[in-house]
Amino acid sequence: MGDKEILMDALKFHGHKCWASVVGVRAGLAALRTLNVPRSGGTQLYAIVEIGEEHGGMCFGDGVQYATGCTFGKGNLTKNPVGKLAVTLIEKDSNCAVRVSYKPTLREQIAESAFMKKRAAGVMANEIPEEEQMELVDLVWDAPEGDVITIGEVFDYAGNWLPEVMGFKPCESCGEMTALAYLRVVGTKQVCIPCSGYER
Ligand SMILES: [Zn+2]
Ligand SMILES: [Zn+2]
Repeated sequence: MGDKEILMDALKFHGHKCWASVVGVRAGLAALRTLNVPRSGGTQLYAIVEIGEEHGGMCFGDGVQYATGCTFGKGNLTKNPVGKLAVTLIEKDSNCAVRVSYKPTLREQIAESAFMKKRAAGVMANEIPEEEQMELVDLVWDAPEGDVITIGEVFDYAGNWLPEVMGFKPCESCGEMTALAYLRVVGTKQVCIPCSGYER
């Protein structure tokens, strides 16, 4: 798959076309290239994204997910929420890691775009005309890599990777399938956490 195809598929998954998700795709692809590893089809890679909650540019995280294959569902993505558009990608076998962060060279051009003016006025990103969405996508995608991201040195990440516990059992109270590691013992029964009354 070509990089542009990855980008367009990522934007389709994301739901609208925006600069931050493009930065995420570029950061993810650059991290894969730097570590010389393929997209994580399984959980070979682990990503730590630094976006926080309820702020602009969080769309970065979706670009990273799509490009790297480190996803919410596979559980090989976590947030260190410090409000930055940055990701650390780690190859779990070797613990080789790299941090890639957003470089705001295009900041003013982005801020002055029709897209961002509408976003600031409270218009939902997907309700902004397609050509105004694509204007920023093209700006961030076509810019030289060094104008969009900073790629750190490869370093050794002190990973402590837990093995996957396979298997499910029905909760003996509500009957819902529950992953083994999340069953709790109450009296003689193995039950899910909500049925157990325990906090976790
Ligand atoms: Zn977005
Ligand atoms: Zn239950």
